Formats: sequence, C-alpha cells, structure tokens
Amino acid sequence: MLSTTPHSLSDAGFRDGFHRRSLEHQRPLSTVTMAFTVVAFLTFVVMRSFVSGPTSPLVFRLACAVALALLVVALPRTNTPTQFGAIGVAYMMVLLGGVALNVVGVSDPLLWTLPAVIVIPVCAAPLWLTPVHFFIGTLIWYAAGLPLLLGEPHPRDVQIVSWMWAMIGVPTAAVFHFGFYWFRRGHYLLENQLTQLAATDPLTGLQNRRAFVEQAERRLDSLKSNARTSAIFVDIDHFKSLNDRFGHAMGDQALFQVAQVLMEQSAAHDSVSRIGGEEFAVLRPAGLADAVALAEQLRSAITTIARPDGFLSASFGVAEHRPGESILSLLDRADEALLRAKQSGRNRVCAERAMPVEIAPAPTGAQAVRQRWQDYYLVSHFQPLYSLSHQKQVGFEALLRGELADGSTVPPVVLFAPRLLSDEGALDRVSHAVHLANARRAIPDDAWLFLNILPATFVAHGYADELAMLVREAGLEPERVILEILESHGGSVDDMSRAAARYRELGFLIAVDDFGAGQSNLDRLFRIKPDLVKLDGELIRATSPGAQQPILPKLVSLLHQAGMLVVVEGVETTEELILAIESNVDFAQGYLLGRPSPEVTPPDSMHRQIDLAFDAIAQGRAQQHALFEMEVRPYRDALSAAANALMGGATMERAFATLAKLPRCVSCFILDDTGRQIGGEVAGVGYTERADSLYPVSDPRDARWDHRPYFRNAVLLPGVPVASNPYLSLASGRPCVAVTVAIQSGGQRSVLGTELDWSSPDLPWPASD
Ligand code: GH3
Ligand code: MG
Ligand code: MG
Repeated sequence: MLSTTPHSLSDAGFRDGFHRRSLEHQRPLSTVTMAFTVVAFLTFVVMRSFVSGPTSPLVFRLACAVALALLVVALPRTNTPTQFGAIGVAYMMVLLGGVALNVVGVSDPLLWTLPAVIVIPVCAAPLWLTPVHFFIGTLIWYAAGLPLLLGEPHPRDVQIVSWMWAMIGVPTAAVFHFGFYWFRRGHYLLENQLTQLAATDPLTGLQNRRAFVEQAERRLDSLKSNARTSAIFVDIDHFKSLNDRFGHAMGDQALFQVAQVLMEQSAAHDSVSRIGGEEFAVLRPAGLADAVALAEQLRSAITTIARPDGFLSASFGVAEHRPGESILSLLDRADEALLRAKQSGRNRVCAERAMPVEIAPAPTGAQAVRQRWQDYYLVSHFQPLYSLSHQKQVGFEALLRGELADGSTVPPVVLFAPRLLSDEGALDRVSHAVHLANARRAIPDDAWLFLNILPATFVAHGYADELAMLVREAGLEPERVILEILESHGGSVDDMSRAAARYRELGFLIAVDDFGAGQSNLDRLFRIKPDLVKLDGELIRATSPGAQQPILPKLVSLLHQAGMLVVVEGVETTEELILAIESNVDFAQGYLLGRPSPEVTPPDSMHRQIDLAFDAIAQGRAQQHALFEMEVRPYRDALSAAANALMGGATMERAFATLAKLPRCVSCFILDDTGRQIGGEVAGVGYTERADSLYPVSDPRDARWDHRPYFRNAVLLPGVPVASNPYLSLASGRPCVAVTVAIQSGGQRSVLGTELDWSSPDLPWPASD
C-alpha cells in the first residue's frame, strides 16, 4: 500500500532523498561561492605580475580561470549529488593547478600559497553535499599541497607557521562540514515529518484526502497511454447510528478497523485513503473488472467486523479512469456508482457501468460461443422474422438463454434475476457480446440481427460507439443490426431520442419492442421515431377473428404514415397469421413461423404456409363481398324504386314506403347538395328508440353529412345505389350500413339514403379498404 509511513534514518531511500533535497538547497550557494573564488583567483594572477622573476606563461593561468568559470556555469545544471561532487572535485584540482602555476618563480612559494591552502578547504567544507565528497575533495587538496610544504628550501619559521595552519585548517574544515551536514539532515528530517503529519489521517494512519489527491494526480499524470487505473469509493453503511447509539469512541474504533482491512487487503501499489468522515478511497493501477473484484473482497472482509448490534457493512462505487480525466472527476464517477449501491440496498459493489466483455467471434461452421456467467453459461438462440409480403426470412432476433455445463437449461427467472454485484446493465452488455460473437456464424448474410437493449444501456454514455466497435469486430456492419429498445422498461424519452440519433449516425436501425404492453404511448413513440415498431402479440390476440371492424389495421396504417415499419410478435396460430396479414403488418415472428434455436434452420415450407394464408384471405374477402352484396341487394333495388317515385312527384312517405318495410331499415332520409337533411326522416321497421347516452348528437337534422363516404360515393356515381362499409351510427349508436343514391331533380342535386341496422354478428363485413 502506498502511504506516508515514516522512514528510518539509515534507510537508503531516505538518505537519497535527503541528498537530493540538500542538492536543491546547496546549488545556488555553491555557485555564488565558486564564482567568487574565480574572481579571487584572477586577483591572485594580477598580483603576481607585480613581483619580479620568471613566471609560467600567463595563458596557462588564464586557461585555468576559464576552466573554473566553465565549471561554475555547469554547476546549476547538475541533477544528482554525484554530478555535483564530481564538479566540486574537478574545481578543486583546477584551482590547485592554477595556484601552483601562479607561484612559479617567486622566492618563497609556500608563503604565497599559504592563505589559499588554508582558506579554500575550510570555505568549501560546508558546501560538500556528502562526507564522501568532502573526504575526496579535501584529501586531494592537502595531498597536492604536501610537496610544497615538504619541499626545500623554506625559511624555518614559515614552515612552522604552515604546519600550524594545516593542523588548525583540517579539523576546522571537518567541523564545518559535519556541523552543516548534521544541521541539514536534522532540518530535512523535520521537514519530512511535518509533510507526513500533514498528509496522514491521525485516527487511521491512512493518507488524508489532500495527500491522496496530490499523489493520485502525480500518478495519473505519469500514466502510460495503455495503462489502466480505477478508483474505488467506500462509504460505511449506517455509521451514524453506530455513533449515536454506542458513542463516538465506538465509531472511531470501527473506522480504525475498516482502515486496517483496507490496508491489509489492498496491494503494495494501491493508494488507500480516508477521504472523509466514514468515506475511504482506493486507487488501483488496474482495469474496472480487477477493481470490482478487489471491492467485492473488501466488502466481504468488512462484513466480518463486529459492531455491538451486529456487523459492519459498507457500500462501494467503482469507476475506471478515462484518458485525460482528473482524479476528482474519476472520484465523482465512482461516487455516482456508490450512490447506486446505497440506493439499491447498501452492502454491495456497483461499477460505473457494466464490465466490458471480450468474446472472440466464432467463425462460420465453428461451435457456438458460450460465455461463463455466475454458475452457468450464456448462449444465443435466434428466432426468425418473416416479411409477410416477401414470404421469406428477413431477420433473426437474438435471445439470451442460460445453460448448465451439461447443456440443461437455466430458467429465465434465475437468468434474469437481479444481481448483487455490478449494475443491472451487466447482463445486457454481456448478452450483446455473446450474440455478436455467434451472429456471423449463425445467421445468413442477407438477414438483420435484432438485439434487445435495456433503455438504461441504450442511453449509457459512450455505449453506442462501444457497440458499433463490437459489431465490426464480429464481422458485421451496424446497418445489419436492429436494436430493440424494451419499451416496457421506461426511461426518459429525451435521453432516448438523443441516444437514438447517435446510434442512427453509426448506422444502426432502431426498433421499439413490446409496443402495446406496459407504459406504451404514441407520443413517446413519435418522439423516439424508431424505424420499426414491434407490436406485442397480445394486441393481435385481442382482435379475435370475426370481430367487428378490427383496430389493428388502423394502428398499422397510423404507424406506416409516421414512417415506421411494423412487426407483430407472438404469432402462434394460422388464424393469427391471417390476422397479421389482413392488418397489413410488414413482418411477423412467433412459434408458428419458427422457434428460437441455437442453429438457424433454412426455411422449408414456411413461405408456402404464408402463401396459403394470403389465398385464404383473398377467398374470404371474395366470399364476404358476395354475401354482403346479396344482403344489400333488396335495399339497393328498393332505394332505386324510391328515387324513381320521388322524381315522379311522390311524397317522401309514399316513395320510401316499400323500403321502410324491409327488415333492417332503420330510417330513410334525403340530403341536400351540402349534406344537410331535407325534411324529416321516414322511420323503418328496424327503428328503435335512440340510445340515451348519444342523445345530444342523435338528431340527424342538426348535422351535415357530406364528409361521409356514403355521401361522397353516391355523388361520384349519380343514379347508382351504393352501399357503404359498416360504420358506427351517431343516430342509433349501433353499427350501420348506408345505401345511398344521388339524383338530379328540378336542377337540384340531392342524395337519398337509408340506414340499415348492421349490429347482428352474423352479417358479412366487407374488407375495410
Ligand atoms: P449511509 O448508510 O447512508 O452511509 O448512512 P450513514 O449513517 O453511514 O451516513 P451519514 O453520512 O449520515 O453519517 C456519517 C456519520 O459519520 C456522521 C458523522 O457523525 C460520522 N463521523 C464522521 N467522522 C467521524 C469520526 O471521525 N469519528 C466518528 N466516530 N464518527 C464520524
Ligand atoms: Mg457518508
Ligand atoms: Mg455512510
């Protein structure tokens, strides 16, 4: 575990740090001192010219001054104590050479050099970074000075003074060096202890928030491009109640114990910190899956810590670092996951998103891929979808199944049961990986792949791109994949339509699944604007065969007008298939057309079966039409006769007398050119009292009827009695059929009509459009 535990003084790492810190402190001072010495040396050279006698060439001595100046310039550029020491030693040697050259030819060289020999090593002593440097530098200096001292001839008293100064100079230099060295060391130790105190949480001994953030920032900055790091956010559950019921001391003890667990269970390279009251964080140089595994291990270890009323527990949020992200933003995302862990019941680990799964796609002809999950395997089954007009398979819906090692099936309630670990999207994402790994192998190249997706996964940040990548890795194109959003699982419609735009941009097609079940609503549908709508099978079953005026065709026509194709699911019987075709849906899916299976079997007789359904519908239509015609013929004839009588000058009652006596006739009426009723109506034998509930709209004389098909059709074919499709009559509140004829009399056009009661279930209904 990375932390700020104190180091011993003899620790090599510590000594190293101390020398580096000394280097930082010492460099400016040494540079100034050594630069000053160069000036002193030049003064020494100038003074020598005032003394007579032979000299060494001036250029040699000036060369020494230049070499010294260059070493001074190099000094601030040193990065290690060794470089610093080497420059120091080189400087001493050049200086010594320069001094020796300068005293060539003087009568008593020892006298000339004595001040330099004594003063220079004493002044340099505190500047050496380490005792080793000090010993080497000082030894070279005195060793080189020794021949001067021992050489002859020197006046005796000069020699005595020289020995005396040497004996004083050496210990003085040593005292200066070690005095400063110990002073710096003590200072460094204190500085270190203060830094550690400022970085440590006193209760648990862990890093505090500030130190953790600083260290994490440094680690993230130096992260290599392919390295992964994750943060774990830990918050003890119901900690306040521990304090409140058993006192703060008990709370403190629990904090200490949790900190111990975190330190013991985490690895040497993890950073562990107490970042708030009962909140801890761990930074681990690893991917999300690894960090979730550690979090799960920590969670389980914390549940073994006893508290007076049971055991402690903690909730965990885990997030993986994204390139360029700051530590604070990473912690925020881990905190978000933690919030979910708290909301979904505490004592659990939630990841910022589900773990990515990497599954290699299976090549054509190979075995199906299955993915280990909990105690079993996830496998893909594919169910065909047919285009009814084309009578062929156009796509396959991938369905997730669980199986045990022996191939037996795991019941869906077990497979889709909520999990403790990680978020609810995990299974969803794994299912996509499994299906995509199997799709290329299992489904034909010219078919769509339908993938189910939860709204939460659909809108998850970055998932569109992730999925597009998975699709391509599986050897497919997003254009071949239709995402079925599980409509019944809710989700914000704004988020969904925004996400849908991104998926479309990438090439995916969007379907809304299960429409007609749960919280389906047309407004949501029109805002998400899917390419396809899958209608719940119950919708088709609710429209039983023989029912009056089925609503399914109207819904389908509405969806078509909005630009959406329609799939009907759950087609199990031939009757349902016929209803689907009659309702004009585009695609159908269901046990009748093919059951889900791991291997896609080529279609055999299915197109024939759909063909037969089409034939049956055509026949049924013809038959209904013939029956309908038969049923309305007497009314058409009677209406023609009434029209003739009226044009011949008969009164309304006389003209309609025969028609009104026919069994289904409810009423006979005349409408003017604008569809308004002229005069009263003649009641037929089928006339009944008006339904009370429709009373306000029951008088036909209040209204105009020229928008009704029976008026418009009559006007289109003057003189020909036409029968309408059944409709709900506002006058009677019952299904009716109108037979109408347009006539021209006295320059005026009018429409004569009769309304027939069509409520008996045995009556034929012609096709609606
Ligand atoms: P939850 O399960 O939602 O996290 O509930 P909780 O009670 O753990 O959370 P809440 O944030 O309400 O309470 C945290 C408590 O931690 C409140 C504070 O008194 C206590 N606390 C913070 N620092 C210390 C500390 O150093 N020692 C002790 N004993 N308690 C502390
Ligand atoms: Mg808290
Ligand atoms: Mg808490």
